[in-house]
Amino acid sequence: MSEKFQAVVIGGGPGGYVCAIRLAQLGIKTACIESRGSLGGTCLNVGCIPSKSLLNLSENFLKVKNFANLGIEVDKVKLNLEKMMKNKNKAVTVLTKGVEFLFKKNKVTYFKGTGSFKSPNQISIIDDKKTEVIIETEKTIISTGSESESLPGVKFDEKVILSSTGALSLKSVPKKMIIVGGGYIGLEMGSVWSRLGSEVHVIEFLDHITPGMDKEISKEFMKILKKQGINFHMQTKVEAIKNNKTSVKVSLLDKNGKKSELACNVVLISVGRKANTKNLKLNSIGVLLDEKKRIKINKNFETNVKNIYAIGDVIEGPMLAHKAEEEGIAVAELIAGQSGHVNYDVIPGVVYTSPEVAAVGKTEEQLQSLGTKYKVGKFPFIANSRAKAINETEGFVKILADEKTDKVLGVHIIGSHAGEMIAEMTVAMEFGASSEDIARTCHAHPTFSEAVKEAALSVDKRAIHS
Ligand SMILES: Cc1cc2nc3c(=O)[nH]c(=O)nc-3n(C[C@H](O)[C@H](O)[C@H](O)COP(=O)(O)OP(=O)(O)OC[C@H]3O[C@@H](n4cnc5c(N)ncnc54)[C@H](O)[C@@H]3O)c2cc1C
Repeated sequence: MSEKFQAVVIGGGPGGYVCAIRLAQLGIKTACIESRGSLGGTCLNVGCIPSKSLLNLSENFLKVKNFANLGIEVDKVKLNLEKMMKNKNKAVTVLTKGVEFLFKKNKVTYFKGTGSFKSPNQISIIDDKKTEVIIETEKTIISTGSESESLPGVKFDEKVILSSTGALSLKSVPKKMIIVGGGYIGLEMGSVWSRLGSEVHVIEFLDHITPGMDKEISKEFMKILKKQGINFHMQTKVEAIKNNKTSVKVSLLDKNGKKSELACNVVLISVGRKANTKNLKLNSIGVLLDEKKRIKINKNFETNVKNIYAIGDVIEGPMLAHKAEEEGIAVAELIAGQSGHVNYDVIPGVVYTSPEVAAVGKTEEQLQSLGTKYKVGKFPFIANSRAKAINETEGFVKILADEKTDKVLGVHIIGSHAGEMIAEMTVAMEFGASSEDIARTCHAHPTFSEAVKEAALSVDKRAIHS
């Protein structure tokens, strides 16, 4: 007889594993199915964590190389890429094993294998030895995430034509790397390899990088990355990619119709990610997808088939680990009869380059298109004492507040520690803070976060230090 569960989560990424733990905490007998052999999904295995590990290590490498300018003389700085990769892999293993431990602690049953629907209440799990187990469930939460998208007709070989997964595990530093797409994943990976010695070229179809980001920040970001040595080919289309096994030729077409060719050792295609529904046999039970092939849900994460829910990258919305986690918790609480909820207006986003870029809420462009009247407060890190003391003065804080009510509508930071500082403003926005609330809150001195307070003061043109 097949084992019975009250809830089954398909996919053990940040959406799925968090959902499974929350369901178990709420007293629901829960199983989670994961096909990749380790928990944590894209994020822990081939996404957020390994990329942040390499970003940190490569930044340290560059810092040590430049120590002499600061009066610290180091004899010889040498890269040991193999060791660096081992360090990254260790972080991944520790964290993925940690999720397994959390499953045991919370009594979530973990099935290793690929899950698919036999019926709305029956899930088949096929493991890597092709053994099939069928389990029964009252509710199913689909959290199968997303995968890298390529260009039409171009296949990832992860040796010279790379997805982000290949770019996280290169065995040597490529002399020349082309990155197709100026989004955050491409720029993070470009930063890593540029710091380690690659000549990096970013090809972007649009006239700006990081689409969706506040344009003023995006402009400043590109300026800083250019200064760091990254080359940008804007308003340029990749027409073809020719894989010569040990090198690649990329054919380009610029905005004036001029054709050119760029040769490199590796090309990273970073043009977006697509929802992953391929092994679920959704057709057999009639679960509907939207126009972008993501699972269609209502505001309670329910698909069109009763008792089947979906969360994370496989549904609409920003493809971010913390968004998936929030949805995992919300759907678990809704299933348990509580009032789970995600505030999509206050989801922060961070790019972990150096300096970092972080944002929450609306951009100026969004407010303009909504016809919302707003005030702007800005403060540069060059005028922040901590930034000056430690030589990290690039960037600024920008706060957008409602012209009438002063309610904070958006915060955009480019600068050191932006990813940590955005949390303060995320909490403030959750509580409906005004810029005056931030301006009147005491911030420790000397900290980068004083620039946030000064930007809030600057909304009403009363910043002290600029
Ligand atoms: C290089 C890179 C860097 C990133 N950096 C960040 C970052 O810094 N911050 C951030 O917030 N986000 C980041 N992301 C995005 C983040 O990884 C995703 O948004 C997040 O992992 C989505 O979580 P999820 O649970 O929806 O899906 P996933 O993490 O993709 O997990 C889905 C899991 O389901 C499994 N699965 C799929 N089909 C089946 C099946 N049929 N049966 C069983 N299991 C199945 C997959 O193997 C996978 O492990 C990054 C992504 C990449 C690629």
